[in-house]
Amino acid sequence: MKDSFAPAAGVNENFYSDTRGLVSDPVPFTKAVIDGLAHGGGLYVPAHVPALLIDEICSLAEMPYSKRAATVYRAFGVDLPTERIEALMESAYGDQFDDERICPITSLDENTHVLELWHGPTSAFKDMALQCLPRFFSASAEALRERGELDHDFLILVATSGDTGKAALEGFKNAEHVRIGVLFPDGGVSDIQRKQMVTTTGDNVQVWGVHGNFDDCQTGVKNVFGNEAYAEKLLSEHNVTLSSANSINWGRLMPQIVYYISSYAELVAKGKVEAGKPIDVCVPTGNFGNILAAWYAKRMGTPIEMLFCASNENRVLTDFINTGTYDISERDFALTPSPSMDILVSSNLERQLFELSGRNAEAVRGWMSDLREKKCFRVDADTFAAVRAEFAADSVDNETCLSTIKEVFDANGYLIDPHTAVAYKVAEQLRGENPVLIASTAHWAKFGDNVYRALHGMAPGEPLPEEAAALSGCQLNELIADETGQHNVPANLATLDAAHVRFEEVIDNSTEDIEHAAAAFLGKTN
Ligand SMILES: *Cc1c(COP(=O)(O)O)cnc(C)c1O
Repeated sequence: MKDSFAPAAGVNENFYSDTRGLVSDPVPFTKAVIDGLAHGGGLYVPAHVPALLIDEICSLAEMPYSKRAATVYRAFGVDLPTERIEALMESAYGDQFDDERICPITSLDENTHVLELWHGPTSAFKDMALQCLPRFFSASAEALRERGELDHDFLILVATSGDTGKAALEGFKNAEHVRIGVLFPDGGVSDIQRKQMVTTTGDNVQVWGVHGNFDDCQTGVKNVFGNEAYAEKLLSEHNVTLSSANSINWGRLMPQIVYYISSYAELVAKGKVEAGKPIDVCVPTGNFGNILAAWYAKRMGTPIEMLFCASNENRVLTDFINTGTYDISERDFALTPSPSMDILVSSNLERQLFELSGRNAEAVRGWMSDLREKKCFRVDADTFAAVRAEFAADSVDNETCLSTIKEVFDANGYLIDPHTAVAYKVAEQLRGENPVLIASTAHWAKFGDNVYRALHGMAPGEPLPEEAAALSGCQLNELIADETGQHNVPANLATLDAAHVRFEEVIDNSTEDIEHAAAAFLGKTN
């Protein structure tokens, strides 16, 4: 353990090592959050996963959500003072959420419970983590600064295909020691998504449209991260280093563990589940962060039996969980109505494999190297058995995704988004006797065009009829609300047409253009 780190009074310490066994000196929470990726390319994992007793879990229902989150963080031994953790959580889960329960549960029947993770400022589940991480990022930077382990600030650069960019902007806006720049493919995001980003307030934010598609955008940003000369220039001229704050950051995972524990407490308090009786959880999965958080909640003592991994037509995880082989060597990338799950390499799976292989870093190194070199890896029999004991998986094609939205609306008068629809259908296919908690990851109004197609029995990708195609994203949502009687479009989405556009710059996707734009942003005095 590290000598230089003395935990603050009242803090039980926990340290983070990595999935590939390459970090010789485990680090405290604050350092893991600032680093993001561990040295050597592995992911940080807690040395020790705390356990909660069933009574402790159930008693969370008596607290406001921010206190529940602070309780779980304290159990994990975060190296910040208790009062600081509580204050950060109060500000993370405050009135920027449109429901004071933060992530309320809607029960469709006695055994089907929908966990609504989209009441935050951008109406998608990434807010649950991205309202929390930036506050802990700033507090961690401050703590490391006080310990003399840090003397610069950060530029967060994010390439986004839509949702993550806005959630990151909202989370980091006005955060101390941080500036954030987001790049999106010009013409490649929905009207709503673009307006959400270019109207962001805050004095440390910048948004650029980029010529090209998301891949061009992402490649450009990756190249900027890889340019050491540029990194030196940023440090010497602006005193910042680049950071990505993406979903492999442990500080994004921990907030997600909270809501699974909290939901169980909530179900017990509402009389839906008897304390100690198991539930199953179904998660629409992309990068494997959300479902991994559910696994950690289970590991900590939450009575979760099975974890259902739901995929769209990009079903690499379904195949992995059913066969033990992760193979992207001949897999095409499919475009689906649930774009936030369109992914081939699920980065957080590495943490899950580390845990399920008995924390075998050597095995993980081998699998990750196979994935890099052969685009394929196969886990050993014991690890596969461990996967099968806790996970089941299935996938949903595009037609079924849309028809499920209509089916659920017709049966329950409850409108779900395409990501939630994937989870709903997979839960139906895999469930047994246990009550099921379905993670609902976006408000329907973020994906109005596909919700419209679903409700009108149209095919995925079919052009909208002229009258609908002529509408702005906001107007289309109003039309859907009128047709369905679901007048629940969140204010932040409903008012976008009237919001002031702050960012109109479109840049080329070359590394130099992005570097130039980022440096110009840092040079601006705010
Ligand atoms: C990011 C996202 C997902 C996938 O979550 P992972 O943690 O990457 O598995 C699912 N639905 C929506 C709406 C998302 O934004």
